[in-house]
Amino acid sequence: MRIAAGLILASAVSLLATGAAWSQTPAMKNSPAPAAAAAPAAAATPAPAKQPCANPDALGIGRVVEIDTTGGPGFGFEHFKQLDFLRDKEVVLTFDDGPWPLNTPSVLKTLADECTTGIFFPIGKHSTYYPEILKQVAAAGHTIGSHTWSHATLTNKKLTEDQRKEEIEKGFSAVKWALGAPPAPFFRFPALQHPPEMVTYLGSRNIAMFSCDLDSFDFKARNPQQVIDVTMKKLDKLGKGIILMHDFHKHTAEALPALLRKLKASGYKVVQMKPKAPVETLPQYDEELAKDVKLPTLSSRPVSSVVQTISE
Ligand SMILES: [Zn+2]
Repeated sequence: MRIAAGLILASAVSLLATGAAWSQTPAMKNSPAPAAAAAPAAAATPAPAKQPCANPDALGIGRVVEIDTTGGPGFGFEHFKQLDFLRDKEVVLTFDDGPWPLNTPSVLKTLADECTTGIFFPIGKHSTYYPEILKQVAAAGHTIGSHTWSHATLTNKKLTEDQRKEEIEKGFSAVKWALGAPPAPFFRFPALQHPPEMVTYLGSRNIAMFSCDLDSFDFKARNPQQVIDVTMKKLDKLGKGIILMHDFHKHTAEALPALLRKLKASGYKVVQMKPKAPVETLPQYDEELAKDVKLPTLSSRPVSSVVQTISE
């Protein structure tokens, strides 16, 4: 049964706070982000300033939950049926495959207009192309996980186990590089393909896995209205759920204002999922990333701060 009569208490999920908790989004500019060669500042992403919501009729945030990712809990009933923490009429908004010019900033603006939030699962390579856009996602207070380095389908039998691990680890290292700080230990498999040995591996890395309860199929939509119709039809059937969308896609960005209005009008509330602690990336992959894409490592310091002339 998808909609349990009572809330099943899951040890991995704890209630942080109820009521609106919103972070103001800085004004978005639709200018393309600098290329990967332009290294982002190594300083940690500043904590977003909490601002009251300026929109009295906003969708807002109904509840904030904190996730203990120890052992790699799985979320989303399409694949993981153990942790049924959402209450009736609660949704989690998730966005894959960014960051991407125009569409990601447009999604950010819509979420800000509605004083609400989502989880972003960026692709590692895209994060190195557009680190400034990913930084805007973080600055707006959204949760950021990872979605592999190159969006490889990890059930592909041509990939060795090491290559699968590299896809996962380098993805996290790339997001960390772009943000200047480690993201959440939240991971989504490309195409929702879950090879069992990688599920076990993520468990050993204490990284939570996110499938979904309902797929908007926005990547197949012929227009924005179709994104809205498919999502609302599935949601009204289930009554709640983690919604899979793509900030990478134009139709999704265009559909989002009306979709969020519809969620509000239909009485749905957004749940914000935050990690208890950030992911611990592996130095080996941080270094590999730096080598491959000619990026400076996070620990790189200007020569003047390392070598100082005392006397000549
Ligand atoms: Zn994807």
